[in-house]
Amino acid sequence: MTSVWWVRRDARLADNPALVSAQEDGPAAAVAVWTPAIRLWSGRRRAHLARVWWSLREDTGGALGVRRGPADDAVLAVAREHDAPVVWAAQEFSPAGVREQEAVAAALRADGRELRFIGSPYAVAPGRVRKGDGTEFKVFTPFLRAWREHGWRSPAPDADPDGFVRVESDVDLDQRAAHGDADDPLAERAEFREARIHDQLADFLAGDIDRYASERDRPDLDATSHLSAPLAYGQIHPRTVLAASSRLRSDAARKFESEVAWREFHADVLHHHPRAQRESLTPVIPEDAWATGSEADEAFMAWRDGRTGFPLVDAGMRELAATGTMHNRVRMVVASFLVKDLHLPWQRGAAYFRKALLDYDHAQNQLNWQWVAGTGRDAAPYFRIFNPESQAKKFDPDRRYVERWLPELDTPAYPEPMVDHKAEREVSLADFQRGKELR
Ligand SMILES: Cc1cc2nc3c(=O)[nH]c(=O)nc-3n(C[C@H](O)[C@H](O)[C@H](O)COP(=O)(O)OP(=O)(O)OC[C@H]3O[C@@H](n4cnc5c(N)ncnc54)[C@H](O)[C@@H]3O)c2cc1C
Repeated sequence: MTSVWWVRRDARLADNPALVSAQEDGPAAAVAVWTPAIRLWSGRRRAHLARVWWSLREDTGGALGVRRGPADDAVLAVAREHDAPVVWAAQEFSPAGVREQEAVAAALRADGRELRFIGSPYAVAPGRVRKGDGTEFKVFTPFLRAWREHGWRSPAPDADPDGFVRVESDVDLDQRAAHGDADDPLAERAEFREARIHDQLADFLAGDIDRYASERDRPDLDATSHLSAPLAYGQIHPRTVLAASSRLRSDAARKFESEVAWREFHADVLHHHPRAQRESLTPVIPEDAWATGSEADEAFMAWRDGRTGFPLVDAGMRELAATGTMHNRVRMVVASFLVKDLHLPWQRGAAYFRKALLDYDHAQNQLNWQWVAGTGRDAAPYFRIFNPESQAKKFDPDRRYVERWLPELDTPAYPEPMVDHKAEREVSLADFQRGKELR
């Protein structure tokens, strides 16, 4: 009997319970769905996904099928073609992921078939870690403690790379993976193979991890794991990452694990509060404080294009536009600038990140934005406002990062600061005070 493995954010053969289950009764039919929502992504982000699935197809001996969505139509079609009564998948917890899996389950049910879940993109599924009284954690540090105490399973056994039946595709991954690349895209695609991601983790843990605790905030140095995109697409499971880091006894390894725990905490918050994807969890300032109209639009474009006149902000936004990534510290600085210096709603910045970020993950993005804006759970208080100049001095002391992304820095072509940070800080503080009085 053939079962279907519906590939979601789990593009891997290692430590994948859904795939192992699908192969239990013989070779599985694997399908990934190119959904209509992907059209809204930047070309670079689309090409990234195509390369991830291209690599997965290589690892399945060419058997993976990639189908045009929506998911309910595509998954049902593959189940019918392979006469499969059961489809296995990892469970999602974000509002869109839940909607999608409900639609797939309903379509299969109506056809006498079944969607079965096993596993999720997290070491501990959202909603599991709770306080003694059964309620959710609102603050990260006690969540971290309880999450560690809860613990997680050991990695699942590797799936069988020969255990697949071929599924036809109607999406041309070769064409999509090559998007906009003048160079040979095949060479770059090798970087996306699952085995390479495991090497990347091993190299990081064997080397850079020692510098992690002290240098992870430095965008001019390369001291972090770069695992966020592989985690976002599920090329590696956090359980695999945690199993490897737990073998190290250093403080740096514990710090690294606590960053992975932020990923789990944000997913937990979004699970309990689906509205957090759009609305501030804590409405700290009055609604009328947000900038609107054409001046706000121009300010937004200057921010997006890296023309604010604040080098660390501009370098970050240029890095994002050029590569689809940005260092965590710089993400915090550009986000704070948009909200507290330009008074634009965090949702606007988050929407641009969604288009551009290769490691885009809905829960991480929306809740990190809320964290910086001071509107989320366990948020930095609204009145803690990043000064983009002192952040630059502290975390890019030799100006290596800003010089890399701003060739015109120190020439007349570089713009003057678009706002007076001190004055805008006062405006934000006054808005915050007004908000307090209204609450
Ligand atoms: C405004 C803003 C938006 C963000 N959007 C995203 C996003 O869409 N997707 C995303 O994966 N991360 C997001 N982050 C978190 C963080 O910036 C990235 O995870 C990090 O830069 C990835 O680099 P790394 O893999 O080298 O991290 P490392 O420092 O090596 O950390 C290891 C892993 O821990 C997790 N992690 C680290 N920091 C955070 C954090 N603050 N929140 C949640 N998980 C974390 C990531 O999975 C990361 O791969 C955002 C942060 C901010 C401030």
